[in-house]
Parts: sequence; structure tokens; C-alpha cells
Amino acid sequence: MDADRQALYETCQRMGVGITVMKAFGGGDLLDASMSPAGKALTAVQCIHYALTRPAVATVLAGAHSLEQLEESISYEDAPEAEKDYAGTFATFPNISWKGHCMYCSHCAPCPNKIDVAAVTKFLNLAKAQGEVPETVREHYGALGHYAGECVQCGACETRCPFEVSIIENMKMAKEVFGK
Ligand code: SF4
Ligand code: SF4
Repeated sequence: MDADRQALYETCQRMGVGITVMKAFGGGDLLDASMSPAGKALTAVQCIHYALTRPAVATVLAGAHSLEQLEESISYEDAPEAEKDYAGTFATFPNISWKGHCMYCSHCAPCPNKIDVAAVTKFLNLAKAQGEVPETVREHYGALGHYAGECVQCGACETRCPFEVSIIENMKMAKEVFGK
């Protein structure tokens, strides 16, 4: 994601402002390998899920030229997690690399200690971007139920992460930042 856009999303999340995403399909380009800047097509369901898993995003306005396209977007509501999962496709984009960057895709789940790695990493990144822990982020972290401090460094998550994120290091840092 563009750095300015990322900063805006993170600011909105910290301040509790919900974002509505438009053009989640890039005007249709992302659905077509020959048009996509990534060099590979995504499905409508993957695009919607990617948008909804960005910081602060509350809604996606899905445009459609036909009833079929509209039905495809609506199918998101009942789609299984495997269908929503954009990580595998992202990891094989020929033109873009996200190596080392958490995409909040949850592909690393499940953690034996029930840590929601994607959420912990999202809150950690929000705190790092701010240089301190905003109260709203601390509250959200506190509501998780399981915390980075419960990481036993088994490494199972890292073997599943398509973006080679240093999850164990992130969990250590999150424990330091949030105190648990
Ligand atoms: S650590 Fe990797 S698999 Fe887990 S949410 Fe981040 S990018 Fe996805
Ligand atoms: S390394 Fe930590 S976060 Fe990852 S699966 Fe193991 S316990 Fe969970």
C-alpha cells in the first residue's frame, strides 16, 4: 500500500474513524490479469476481503456492471475463509513483493495459544507508526483475549506466512509495547 495511504488508514484506526472503501476492484482492473498492475487477477471476494482487513475499514462499496457481478460481490457474505484468502495470490504476484510486510491476511493461523497474529501485528504497527500506544489501540489490544506474551515461539505461524514475516520477533515486540 502507498505509504501516505497507509498512514491515513492507521490514523483513522487510532482515532476510531471508520473508512468506506470505493473502487475495491480498481475499476475492474484487479479482476483481470492483463489489466492488473500486479500482473495477476484477484477474485471479487478476495478484493473485498483485502479491503475489509485494512486498518479502520468498515465498509466496501462494490460497484457492478451486471447482475452477475453484483451477485459475485454479495457472495462474499457466505464465502468460506479459503475463498476469501488473498494471501496465496498476493505472494505470487509477478510485479509486486510484500516480503516481510504483514498483510493482515491470517494465513498464519491457527496459533496453538490462540493468538490472533494478524490483529496483534496490526495493533503493533499502529503503535509503532504513532511512536506511542494510543488509548484506542490499547483498548482494542486488551479486548483480544490472547496476547503476544503467550507466544511460545513454536514457529508454526512462520511456516504458514506467505510473506515471510518475522512473527516471533513481532510477538516479542508487541509484548514489550503492550506489556502483555
Ligand atoms: S504474519 Fe503473515 S500470514 Fe500472518 S497475517 Fe501477517 S502476512 Fe498474513
Ligand atoms: S510462534 Fe507464537 S504466535 Fe506463532 S504459532 Fe507459535 S505460539 Fe503462536
